[in-house]
Amino acid sequence: MIRVESLNDLWQARESLDEPVAIVPTMGFLHEGHLSLVRAAKKRATSVVVSIFVNPTQFNQETDLEVYPRDVERDLALLENEGVDLVWIPTNEVMYPPGFQTWVEVGEIANPLEGEKRPGHFKGVATVVSKLFTAVQPQIAFFGQKDAQQVAVIKQMTRDLNFPIEIVAVPIARENDGLAMSSRNVNLNPEERDASVVLYQALQAAKIAYDGGERNGDALRLLMKEIISAQPLASIDYMSCADPSNLQELEVIASEALISLAIYIGKTRLIDNLILEK
Ligand code: AMP
Repeated sequence: MIRVESLNDLWQARESLDEPVAIVPTMGFLHEGHLSLVRAAKKRATSVVVSIFVNPTQFNQETDLEVYPRDVERDLALLENEGVDLVWIPTNEVMYPPGFQTWVEVGEIANPLEGEKRPGHFKGVATVVSKLFTAVQPQIAFFGQKDAQQVAVIKQMTRDLNFPIEIVAVPIARENDGLAMSSRNVNLNPEERDASVVLYQALQAAKIAYDGGERNGDALRLLMKEIISAQPLASIDYMSCADPSNLQELEVIASEALISLAIYIGKTRLIDNLILEK
């Protein structure tokens, strides 16, 4: 496994890779969710590149960036074990050279949900992912369905900017009790960890209601709200039942819906989602 930091070293290493090349962008502190992306990438591509970069411009709160967990040596051991070909760990100076002033901003699809609650977040994401795409020149890129709006934003950007890259969304990897895996889960104390299962419980309750015939968006949002509100350590950032194609809230579900949640458990903000299908 080759490990590089500078752009020159990346370009040189990239030349040695057999195509098709896949990229798995990450912010490190890897868990099984990230590794499921790597495994999906290994199945589809001849060479797999993983980037590890805690992108400061997608954090809209300084404290969130400060407490973001990091362990590069552990990450490298995990990636080596998965048979990854190339790991790129750029510094802030590589990604944002002095005087940096060029941004990628995606339109309406980036506005609701995470975009509304985390102003500037998707501007940071779209900018850094387009820089990763330009530098690595992959044929396929893998993202987690855990960040459902991020997948939608990246697909839109890829179409709009004519990147010749296939975007693949990988299902959410979960702990045994249903909690979606996340690097942020280590910031939960034991009591908060127990409480955090409430996100999955709320989504499951909405799915059961939907499977039982409920098609009213408000009814599903209310059901999730009641379940979250019953957990004293949880506070709601948003709850959504939206059209997966444009992420606009639905009054009535005609065919499909993306139900998604952002919930604070103590100081830790967790997100999760589920697709309701016919
Ligand atoms: P992050 O390091 O949090 O930026 O995540 C890097 C990639 O891994 C993103 O595409 C995430 O959506 C994906 N990811 C994170 N957690 C999970 C999970 N539990 N299941 C599947 N993909 C995930």
